[in-house]
Amino acid sequence: MSVVEDGIIFPDIMDDNKPKHRSLLDPRQGAIDRNSRCQTCSGNIVDCPGHFAHINLAKPVYHIGFITNTIKILTCVCFYCSKLLMSPQSPEISTIVKKTKNQPKKRLVQIYNLCKKLKICEIDQRTQPIFRQSGILILAEWKKVDKPKQEKKIMLTLERAWEILKEITNTDLFILGMDPKYARPDWMIITVLPVPPLSVPPSVGIYGSVKNHDG
Ligand SMILES: [Zn+2]
Ligand SMILES: [Zn+2]
Repeated sequence: MSVVEDGIIFPDIMDDNKPKHRSLLDPRQGAIDRNSRCQTCSGNIVDCPGHFAHINLAKPVYHIGFITNTIKILTCVCFYCSKLLMSPQSPEISTIVKKTKNQPKKRLVQIYNLCKKLKICEIDQRTQPIFRQSGILILAEWKKVDKPKQEKKIMLTLERAWEILKEITNTDLFILGMDPKYARPDWMIITVLPVPPLSVPPSVGIYGSVKNHDG
């Protein structure tokens, strides 16, 4: 989807009076004025619709709009093995799935209400933490720990959260109200930022002002 394969990395947009590759004015994202052509589709400023690029984030971040849902999903699965805290075959889960046919949001709420009371994973018998939002981060806290030296409270790193979320099976995801074909919970953690085409302001404006200064 991105026309700048390795991502944008340069903060300065000009190089020798020409738009710099891998900057926010990468000429592969579209024509930048009436005299230039797009280096992806060869279109001029009228023909070329502009193309998306991306920035690889140095550190992943939670999508702030989804942090509550991220906490809900983390609460429903094991911190260690990513399995649903209650077996998908259990009568409780089966009843919820039947009752919430075609209502995935309602299903997540009901599964969450059921799982938040569970403290131990059925599979590995390990004690689960309670998750709490702290600013743009998530705290994991254990009331009781399995090993004496284990920390009782940790700031959940994004990498760890991503590891847990990406191991959730498709069957469990369905139960959590997600269709893995369209949305996986690990997508709620952002590692890549899309950069819209140049034809979308204010990029053109920025270039305009640079040009004015030069002339
Ligand atoms: Zn183009
Ligand atoms: Zn487990």
